[in-house]
Amino acid sequence: MSNKLNIVIVGFGGMGGFHFEKLNLNEHYHVQGIYDIDEAVQKKAEQESIKSYTSLDEVVNDETVDTVLIATPNDSHKSISIQALQHNKHVICEKPVTLTSEDLKEIIDVADKQNKVFMVHQNRRWDDDFHLVKSLYQTKQIGEIFHIESRVHGANGIPGDWRKEELYGGGMLYDWGVHLLDQLLWLFDYDMDNLSGELSYILGNDVDDGFTVHLNFKDVTTIVEVSTTSFIKLPRWYVKGTEGTAVIHDWDLQNEVVCPVKSKEQSHPKPIKAGAGLTKTMAPPSEDAVTKGSINSINFEMESFYDNFYHTVYGKGEPIVKNEQVLKTMEIIEKVFEAVQDEKVIKF
Ligand code: NAD
Repeated sequence: MSNKLNIVIVGFGGMGGFHFEKLNLNEHYHVQGIYDIDEAVQKKAEQESIKSYTSLDEVVNDETVDTVLIATPNDSHKSISIQALQHNKHVICEKPVTLTSEDLKEIIDVADKQNKVFMVHQNRRWDDDFHLVKSLYQTKQIGEIFHIESRVHGANGIPGDWRKEELYGGGMLYDWGVHLLDQLLWLFDYDMDNLSGELSYILGNDVDDGFTVHLNFKDVTTIVEVSTTSFIKLPRWYVKGTEGTAVIHDWDLQNEVVCPVKSKEQSHPKPIKAGAGLTKTMAPPSEDAVTKGSINSINFEMESFYDNFYHTVYGKGEPIVKNEQVLKTMEIIEKVFEAVQDEKVIKF
């Protein structure tokens, strides 16, 4: 008997298509079909010989389906998740899992009652650039990390779809914020101290087109920033440690590390002309006072998201993305909205 999971993808747009390709390459899954609310999408799937269900009811009442993967706009995740779980399906759900932490708690309750696996696709825990930051943290290549800036900068505005609308859970805090916050919260084990932030509405949409969040942990300050209006980007990561500084430029992983030479006495930089004045403080360190290199990366050997879900279903592994972690991230997102609205720093 095959132990493959029979999976149906609900929502066959950009991300549904991404999952379709990945799942088809994974030996643990049989993609049984798709369901999309848009009939044109259903027809197109059928033309490509992909079984297309005509309603969510038909999916959840199909007893041969083990797992439902939800890749629909954000506001619909909750009801589809609960319906699937109540019909004894395991569920993979796209991020942001819900629009409130209370909604997520309801889903988790149903999953627990039904004894089914519910897992959120926080896939950016697998990003190689993030793993370089994890490496810096673990190897202490630049000493103890005390400050991190994590940014994604685009110049295309919010895509012209549901992401622009509040009704569907649009906006960049839900879209990208949930990834970037999840990475740092997971890295520093949810040991928050305080947060504050600003949302940007430069493009005049109902929802934020970017944000800056100052999320401070007990020993590390961070800036998390998303912009859709930056025609010149800042680096993806900027990391400061007690013994050096590192920059990761982009997802292509180009990076630089500069550390002071430990054996040297403090360098005596020559004053430089700076604007209309002179400065020694801000002069670059002399060449022999620093070493320049790149990040020594560690191989973290994480099994893929899909393998991890499969092993969790069969009781052969622990979920890498745990629901209680996702819940904490959703609570932080709520705190960011609260901090912005009340213009205050929230302490934990
Ligand atoms: P999309 O607009 O490209 O596709 C959504 C699809 O869902 C559309 O085909 C639409 O017709 C269908 N749909 C809408 N409501 C439905 C319903 N009630 N039932 C069935 N189908 C429905 O959007 P997308 O970019 O694929 O995003 C989908 C989800 O994936 C979002 O939650 C988004 O945040 C997430 N996402 C995650 C990542 C990631 O890296 N994890 C990347 C992109 C998008």
